[in-house]
Amino acid sequence: MGWDKEIEETSRELCKTFEEMHLKDELLRGVYSYGFETPSLIQQKGILPIVRGRDLLAQAQSGTGKTATFSIACLQKVDPSYRFTQALILSPTRELAMQSHNVISKMAKFLKGLNILRVVSGEAISETARKVAEAPQHIIVGTPGRVAHLIRSEIIDVSHLRIFVLDEADEMLSQGFKDQVVEINSNLPKNAQTVLLSATMPQEIIEITRQILNDPVQILVPRDELTLDGLRQFYVVVEKEEYKKEALFDLYDLIQPAQCVIFCKSRWKVNYFTKDIRRRGINACSIHKGMNYEDRDHNMQDFRDGKNRVLVTTDEFARCIDVQQISLVVNYDLPMEKESYIYRIGRSARFGKKGIAINLVTEEDGQMLKDIQEFYGIKIEEMPPSIKELLQLK
Ligand code: ADP
Ligand code: MG
Repeated sequence: MGWDKEIEETSRELCKTFEEMHLKDELLRGVYSYGFETPSLIQQKGILPIVRGRDLLAQAQSGTGKTATFSIACLQKVDPSYRFTQALILSPTRELAMQSHNVISKMAKFLKGLNILRVVSGEAISETARKVAEAPQHIIVGTPGRVAHLIRSEIIDVSHLRIFVLDEADEMLSQGFKDQVVEINSNLPKNAQTVLLSATMPQEIIEITRQILNDPVQILVPRDELTLDGLRQFYVVVEKEEYKKEALFDLYDLIQPAQCVIFCKSRWKVNYFTKDIRRRGINACSIHKGMNYEDRDHNMQDFRDGKNRVLVTTDEFARCIDVQQISLVVNYDLPMEKESYIYRIGRSARFGKKGIAINLVTEEDGQMLKDIQEFYGIKIEEMPPSIKELLQLK
């Protein structure tokens, strides 16, 4: 069962429609015009507590709509006539921050006089300073490094903040980001509310959240209920590492995915393997943190637009690709950390769609494959020859 029996789910109230949430008319229009009709479970449970000013610890599986949960709540709470930054949303990667900024800006389409600022590396600080000087930026969406820097340089002022959101909270509170997040937090008014969201919440992170959350509403899904309903998971054994490539091409021909993400263990392998795929005549692109921002943005956009059907990447991007057409995820190499597995496979089967995850393994990977199954309480089956009929993917 779940890893944290101690924490009971404390939000049982459900809002089955967006109307029931009593959102501002312009916001409701924005949500509908974005294409949403009914709220997902996490939205049904999570939006109102935030609107009411409660701290929130929300854990729900990948692809279930956490972005709109905090976006709608922030838009509802922020008052455009109050000329200060009122909401700050932090994400671990610039791509994810850009994605959230995009969602929230689109949903805010009909809200007049509301400014939403994106603060990520690769953008000129002078440009950010200009925007801040020009008009109040009610909501700021960014990455911790850049935001901390801008607060230190007194370019952005968070002393009137009301809502502090950490998306991918477990990553934000783990080693790489914790110091920056704590620094940012220390600049916020004591009464600002804090909202933490993630698909996974390891025990040691829950301990840390106790220090920054004040009597939070908690929505937690146990780990063994985390795997996605529409997703089938298989493994394929190859005798030697060198045979993985052919196995992958066979799979690709057989399954013919709408779009596909392939995870490799290193940046070097991503580069080299992307070239191989292209040589096969398949439109493929790659993304990893060793690339410059321009290439990252360009490749991500091409994949999003469907110009490239295959995206090759590393765990650095396991959490931040939200493209609904992805019907296949291939773990060309198994993840080094068990925790990454759920994020990788969650790139497919987003929002109830169907998908397949396939792990290419050699004998050496046996232990890790076993560990992953135990960790999540799942069974990954060997891929049957009749895979195609079995899946009937849309
Ligand atoms: P998470 O952050 O929980 O992994 P996202 O917020 O990225 O998930 O949402 C996953 C996908 O589901 C997105 O493409 C999003 O547009 C879609 N989605 C979220 N909520 C709804 C909704 N209420 N109705 C329709 N689609 C939704
Ligand atoms: Mg998310």
